[in-house]
Amino acid sequence: MTTATELPAPGPDARGRGPAEAPITMLNPDFPFSYDHYLTHPDGLGTIPAELYGTEVAVVGAGLSGLVTAYELMKLGLRPVVYEADQIGGRLRTASFPSAAGIVADLGGMRFPVSGKAFYHYVDLLGLETQDFPNPLAGATSSTVIELAGEKYYAETPADLPPFFREVADAWKAAVNDGAKFTEMQDAIRARDTARIKELWNELLPLLDEQTFYGFIAGSDSFKQAGFAHREAFGQVGFGTGGWDTDFPNSILEILRVVYTDADDQHRLIAGGAQRLPEALWQHAPSGMAHWPDGTSLASLHAGAPRGAVNRIARDGDGNFRVRERWGRESEYPAVVTTCQSWLLSTRIHTEEKLFPAELWTAIERSHYMQSSKTFVMVDRPFWKDIDPTTGREVLSMTLTDRLNRATYLLDNGPDQPAVILLSYTWNDDALKWLALDADERVELMLHSLAQIYPDVDIAGHIVGQPITVSWEADPNFMGAFKANLPGHYRYQQRLFTHFKQDKLAEHQRGIFLAGDDVSFTAGWAEGAVTTGLNAVWGVVNHLGGRTAPGNPGPGELLEEFGPIALD
Ligand SMILES: Cc1cc2nc3c(=O)[nH]c(=O)nc-3n(C[C@H](O)[C@H](O)[C@H](O)COP(=O)(O)OP(=O)(O)OC[C@H]3O[C@@H](n4cnc5c(N)ncnc54)[C@H](O)[C@@H]3O)c2cc1C
Repeated sequence: MTTATELPAPGPDARGRGPAEAPITMLNPDFPFSYDHYLTHPDGLGTIPAELYGTEVAVVGAGLSGLVTAYELMKLGLRPVVYEADQIGGRLRTASFPSAAGIVADLGGMRFPVSGKAFYHYVDLLGLETQDFPNPLAGATSSTVIELAGEKYYAETPADLPPFFREVADAWKAAVNDGAKFTEMQDAIRARDTARIKELWNELLPLLDEQTFYGFIAGSDSFKQAGFAHREAFGQVGFGTGGWDTDFPNSILEILRVVYTDADDQHRLIAGGAQRLPEALWQHAPSGMAHWPDGTSLASLHAGAPRGAVNRIARDGDGNFRVRERWGRESEYPAVVTTCQSWLLSTRIHTEEKLFPAELWTAIERSHYMQSSKTFVMVDRPFWKDIDPTTGREVLSMTLTDRLNRATYLLDNGPDQPAVILLSYTWNDDALKWLALDADERVELMLHSLAQIYPDVDIAGHIVGQPITVSWEADPNFMGAFKANLPGHYRYQQRLFTHFKQDKLAEHQRGIFLAGDDVSFTAGWAEGAVTTGLNAVWGVVNHLGGRTAPGNPGPGELLEEFGPIALD
């Protein structure tokens, strides 16, 4: 946990550990299953009976989760049939500026924590280049400006900030240590000590499930002593990527999952854009697959394009699922995996009600999604590196502010290329402020805010081409950016996550699997899209009569042992 206001959390230095210490991974405390080890095990993910080779399985959604699911099913000898309503990539969507095709903007996921080992398994497999992401005060960021209540602070390193910010960071560290055993949990995660992780988490869960993020910090001794100004600044400047106060109403469990696993730390971007990952998975032809000859890829199995949007999923009398597309084509499958945001199963897809137990529908419907908006402009060059002769500082910095923009990121493509400014990246109420405005109106207001912080810098004079903007909640194929559970929602998430293990379900409810980041315990992180896809693969293999590789137990085998506990 690196805070934007400061410094590493109680980490290697503080505890005198050497560089050889095991890294933090996104070993989620709800189900600390090592998906990275599972993926790299030489025995593979399992087998299906040879007579089932080539069996079609429907996969709804060609985002990262759907493509990981389809890719692994293909490797096992099944024939995934992928449906996609819009673009391959889903929320890993990269837009190009029309007048400079190589200059890109990541509209959804853009920075990926190195602790996300399952995500990087695929990044590495596909040979994609990554680079440090320029987060506030990160190594790749030459300077950061924090502007709160009209006061401006310039920093090249955390040490340049006034002591107030260190106090805020210390109060947060104390709060998570006192109230949520932060250091002990990170030690257990580093050691991959599953029993200890579960011991700690299962004790905290019932105590914290009904607590908001804000309630947690306001109730902590450290923030009570520090006072409101510290709580307010913490909300605005936060940790890792910046301010998290739009998460204040959400369950503190959601925040703990992020900070325990360093999900908000050490971020890297994918050179050329995040969408390159799902596109590469679609094109990649793995060798040594069951059944399929070398050279087979998801693209070749689909003759180049996935099928269209699904608008109905039902079950026939013979037990097969009938999947209908928006324009009428229907096909039958023995198993279906849905990876779109689960809300869409009731709002955009006529999903036969009896396919899921009533309590699962409740979990789907009660889901809480965050809104999110981003607005990018292309500029002629990375002019922000120019040095102001009077101050000796860069003229423009990565900026965190309590104004409308909230966070401005500077994305450099090299000295002889146009650069990109992410003028504003916002969540929830801050994102709603932009929703009704078009791209130009957004840019005007954002430039107005920045002009108050940098009165002598002519940002507009550097803009070239058209701005690019997105509000994920306005897109009917998403209806929100990513899930964030409210207090009391743990039970819903537990139902959604564990649904892939279906032995206790009625016969007519088996064979349809939910995956995607909103089914994971870490919505908003692509790692959850990958890992829930792998759960679904396990579910499909098991459902069709296949088996897990001996020596490499899968998520379904270990769910009972250290999966998410039921609170009732
Ligand atoms: C603004 C934003 C910022 C983010 N930042 C980060 C980040 O920095 N780091 C990180 O790790 N993660 C980040 N994420 C999360 C990351 O993008 C997601 O975890 C991941 O992309 C989700 O993949 P998925 O496959 O689960 O879902 P999706 O990408 O949503 O894929 C589902 C697919 O289903 C399709 N679909 C919908 N309806 C239908 C239908 N009826 N028929 C067929 N297809 C349908 C959709 O078009 C979509 O392509 C961010 C997300 C957003 C929105």
